[in-house]
Amino acid sequence: MRHAQGPLLTVDLSERSATTTAIDDRLAEFVGGRGLNTALAYDRIPFDADPLGPANRLYLSTGPMQHSTTSFTGRMAATALSPLTNGLCSSNAGGFLSRNVTGAGYVAVEIVGESDELLAVHVREIGDDGEPDVTFEPVPDLEQAEVSAVSDRFAESHDLPAEHVACVGPAGENGVRFASIMTSDTRAFGRGGLGAVLGAKGVKALTFDGDADAAIDLDWPDEAATVHRDAATSDSIMKRQGTASVTELANEVGALPSYYFSDTSFDGVEGISGDRVEEKKYKKGTCSQCAFACKLPTRDEEAGVETEGPEFETVMAFGSNAGVDDIVDVMRANELCDELGMDTISCGDVVSMFLESEDEFGNAELVRSIVEQIAYREGVGDKLAEGVHRAHEEFGADDWTVKGLSFSGHDGRHLNGQGLAFATANRGADHMYGEFYPYEYPLVDPDEALDPTGLEGKPPKLVEKENRNAVLDSAIVCKFSRGIVTDDQLSALLDAEYADLQTLGARIVERERAFNNARGFDRDDDTLPYADEISGFEAALSEYYALRGWNDDGTVPDRDTDRGATGGKTSADD
Ligand code: SF4
Repeated sequence: MRHAQGPLLTVDLSERSATTTAIDDRLAEFVGGRGLNTALAYDRIPFDADPLGPANRLYLSTGPMQHSTTSFTGRMAATALSPLTNGLCSSNAGGFLSRNVTGAGYVAVEIVGESDELLAVHVREIGDDGEPDVTFEPVPDLEQAEVSAVSDRFAESHDLPAEHVACVGPAGENGVRFASIMTSDTRAFGRGGLGAVLGAKGVKALTFDGDADAAIDLDWPDEAATVHRDAATSDSIMKRQGTASVTELANEVGALPSYYFSDTSFDGVEGISGDRVEEKKYKKGTCSQCAFACKLPTRDEEAGVETEGPEFETVMAFGSNAGVDDIVDVMRANELCDELGMDTISCGDVVSMFLESEDEFGNAELVRSIVEQIAYREGVGDKLAEGVHRAHEEFGADDWTVKGLSFSGHDGRHLNGQGLAFATANRGADHMYGEFYPYEYPLVDPDEALDPTGLEGKPPKLVEKENRNAVLDSAIVCKFSRGIVTDDQLSALLDAEYADLQTLGARIVERERAFNNARGFDRDDDTLPYADEISGFEAALSEYYALRGWNDDGTVPDRDTDRGATGGKTSADD
């Protein structure tokens, strides 16, 4: 099986040191990206670590596809214990950073310990002698700086544009539990609060000045060129409207969370639809090497807003869920979250919860004020910065989360298979983990479509889909390649039988689960606020566990106990 190449760079903030380690055994077994991160995290993060403490470790990695010039590969993976879910969480961002990390000669970067002063960590190309070239720069001038100001600073001081920078905004520094790590200014490792992990370690920014072209390997099968050509010639509506293209369909079928989840369709949908987003798009946007180019640079000159997106999930969280029916207001919230460094889904959901408690749905001005208060933990924002799960009781609201992660769109009350996917996902209520909704709208070919009602026959498909997505996140191939990258093409690209890719995906999902089990997660955490409303939910959950070979309480049997295979620490060592 094809896997990523290169050593692991460990950056120890407490010691201000950098070392490289060969991790060929882990690469052979887990390929790269999310799989590699998960294996390293399982080996090296103590099971009882505090997500915001020095024992947590943050992993950023690339995969084998980042050595190619194929479309859908402009992404990279980040993994750490999440301060939002308290479990292991992987997040994935587009942009251009992945090629610059690969170009620096590394497959992955591990951030260890913590600094007592705010730092930028500069990673340069690995030396011919294999020695790392890493410097630690105190950056008190960037304290509480917004994301574009951080980018401007390194463009000026180090001649490194935003695509070489991963950083946190004020939210990451202030421990907002859903802070994101930002790169290329507008691309986010969004879910799970990994920006708060980096901020707690005292890191404002990481820069990578590798030569992106130097890592290109031209020895790829014909399928790589076919995928690239099909991405370029596709007439997908996503090229014009991104994921916002699904907004009206979600509304029509009753899968668009609205008014803090009290409804599943929204009267004002026309004002926040994909057409409205397309009207604001002013140029093409893409990620490294990707001819599909589904990103959405948008602006409204009259309102003075310029951003990228909003994608469907932001339209849901700051639009329908907040009772806001003007796309310009959603764009403003999107722009603010990017600048302050916060996940638009978790932020929009917690703001919507606040609007419900104040009977202020639709008050876009209040939304902007609350978003800022959250990032700086001022006033009521201090409580809301804890996220829905920790704050809901104080605001008299329901807890619309799974494992502490608040819901994205594609509501499982209509799309029941997606509901099960929200429940089983190791990282919580996120749509891209199991990504079941395309079958149920449907957004797939008619012969693949599934009735959205009920769960009969769906667990095997969910297992297959979760495994496939774990492989995509490890390869790393963007999930918006659906309908273009076939199973056979994926096999060819990774030089493996599809059955072997399924085994790899299952290994990754199981390793995540084993870590979370060690932190106390079990079947009780694989649930939904509306589980009782879905016929056969508990039976489907048991079937899912049985298909994975897990215990009926949602735990992994003892077989998965090879912790420490790379010589990493055990909990007792800490
Ligand atoms: S499909 Fe869109 S999000 Fe995915 S890599 Fe291409 S441009 Fe980026």
